[in-house]
Amino acid sequence: MPLPNPTASENPPLQNYKIAFLKGIFLLAVVLAGALGLYRFSVADPLVAIDLLFAGAGLSLWLYLTRWPGQVEGVATIALAAAFVLFLAAFLLAPQRGNHLSLFFLLSAAAFFLKGMRGGLWWLAGIIVAIVAGHFAQGTGSVFSGADIGTTVLYLVALAGVFYYHETMKSEELARQREDDLRHQIRVRMEHEKQLERLAHYDALTGVPNRVMLADRLAQSLARAKRDHGLLAVCYLDLDGFKPINDQHGHAVGDRVLVEVTRRIREAVREDDTVARLGGDEFVVLLVGLQATEECVGSLQRLLERIRQPIRIGEQMLQLSASIGVALYPDDEEDADTLLRHADQAMYLAKLAGKNRFHLFDPASDRRARSHHQLLQEIRLGLAGGEFALYYQPKLDLATRRLAGAEALIRWNHPQRGLLLPGDFMRAVENTELEIELGEWVVATAVDQLLAWREAGFRLPLAINISAYHMQSPGFVPRLKEQAQRYSPQAGECWLQIEVLETAALDDIARISSLIAACRELGIGFALDDFGSGYSSLTYLSQLDVDTLKIDQSFVRDMQTDKGDHAVVLGIIALARAFDMHCVAEGVESEAIFQVLLQMGCTVGQGNGIALPMPAAELVRWHAAPQPGGLDLLS
Ligand code: C2E
Ligand code: MG
Ligand code: MG
Repeated sequence: MPLPNPTASENPPLQNYKIAFLKGIFLLAVVLAGALGLYRFSVADPLVAIDLLFAGAGLSLWLYLTRWPGQVEGVATIALAAAFVLFLAAFLLAPQRGNHLSLFFLLSAAAFFLKGMRGGLWWLAGIIVAIVAGHFAQGTGSVFSGADIGTTVLYLVALAGVFYYHETMKSEELARQREDDLRHQIRVRMEHEKQLERLAHYDALTGVPNRVMLADRLAQSLARAKRDHGLLAVCYLDLDGFKPINDQHGHAVGDRVLVEVTRRIREAVREDDTVARLGGDEFVVLLVGLQATEECVGSLQRLLERIRQPIRIGEQMLQLSASIGVALYPDDEEDADTLLRHADQAMYLAKLAGKNRFHLFDPASDRRARSHHQLLQEIRLGLAGGEFALYYQPKLDLATRRLAGAEALIRWNHPQRGLLLPGDFMRAVENTELEIELGEWVVATAVDQLLAWREAGFRLPLAINISAYHMQSPGFVPRLKEQAQRYSPQAGECWLQIEVLETAALDDIARISSLIAACRELGIGFALDDFGSGYSSLTYLSQLDVDTLKIDQSFVRDMQTDKGDHAVVLGIIALARAFDMHCVAEGVESEAIFQVLLQMGCTVGQGNGIALPMPAAELVRWHAAPQPGGLDLLS
């Protein structure tokens, strides 16, 4: 809405009269001079030129005023001066005609009318001086006596008095009118500003504070809570099921529902609390002056309860609920914006948890989530920056003590934290896209290594660890096939084995078993890792086409002292033999364990007692000359 502009200058009413009057005079001059000119023309009088001059001047002034009414003062001065000079000439040249004096009366009246009080007085003084000068002028033979002149002057002064009074009244009235106008304009402007202020700070539909005003209130409430060591609850409220109401019943009904919900929220909270609408079906409620968290919980339950009550709109009964997220200061000691964001996040969790409920934001779990997120980001950057490496741990054929293969184990050369083990970071990527990316990197790096070794005349079967999530990701088998073919175009000649956790393989046995079958067609071997830690049931073992069981190191380590573990290891070895599978024991930490495993009939062993996981180049050296610190099992 445009504001009325109080400074817009239009001609005031008096000015309009002046213009009309002057224009009338000029028009009259044109008509009269024209008519006189025509008459004189017919009798061929040379004075016709003067008449035409008059008519031309009158017409130009008339047009001038029509075009520039703002110039009325200037034109009035010119007109008065011309009339004065004319009448003065007539008065001085033909003083015997007394009625010429009356022309000055007309002139003075016109001066007051056209020039106003001050200008009128000056012109009046000029007229009196002219009359007196006419009386004393030599050779003109004045017809006026001193008494005539005295009365005339008195008359003129009285006329001036009348004009003065009239003028004063007029200017007072004008001033009053101007004041009224101004007052009116100020009122209009103030109302308008108030309206703008409402629009800027309050929601047009519901009349409660909007986002702008909320920011203000939130800052104030937070400052007060800090000062008084009080509690402040920032509640982000989003209606459940509002969109369908809007879609099915139209926006008019939707608006009425919002108005009603706003009313209910306001009723459910205290006078000091703030209810604001952010737009759509989103509200924020600030609960202030709380003594304890329970008080806040009570208010929230009341809010949910009130909103859940059916709403009657005309003939229809509508029902909706709300999801509320709450950030509680000072438990969550953050600034206003962050509190609002946390409340929003918590609201989202309330929605996820099934709606029609509130969720309190938990700063500790948020910190955990943030550091998790940060770790993922670091891993992503580390992967791109080549900070990851594969270490290789040898596997020995227990009977011949010859190298039977190796297991590739991922390591992270962290720029600040040093060499990190999978336990430090693999959990973070579990079931994420990044786990797949890391897994793909492991496959590619392992194949690169196998190629490099083959080039150097060093061949050995290599096992890699692949997570079930990665295995089940779309395109896993074709991608693996590509990698396998880099090593050998013919299936069956790939020296790669995949270790998948027994527990993970059990999760979706049908799917995993078909994936295992597809990989085996590529000539890739399969081992069930950490075997014994899951159910180890015969039924599923018969469904999975694996070639190796890796006995979990926890059984191997303690089997000499723990009868149960001993039995488990024996059982797994027997199971492997029954299913015609290889059996690899992890955790071979000592010569004694090595000997026991050998006696039990286990075929392959892997463990720190044999060798720690090591970089690729070291493995080749180790193979050529076993480490002096090791068990020297390679004889
Ligand atoms: P895993 O597949 O069972 O690998 C064996 C783990 O046991 C390795 O730990 C190895 O260093 C450790 N180990 C071997 N022998 C002994 C021993 O005698 N004593 C003891 N105390 N430990 C021994 P690491 O490298 O920390 O790996 C831990 C787990 O992380 C692995 O268990 C595997 O499940 C996972 N992992 C390792 N590399 C990868 C990978 O590239 N991808 C995936 N998805 N998982 C991996
Ligand atoms: Mg493994
Ligand atoms: Mg294992």
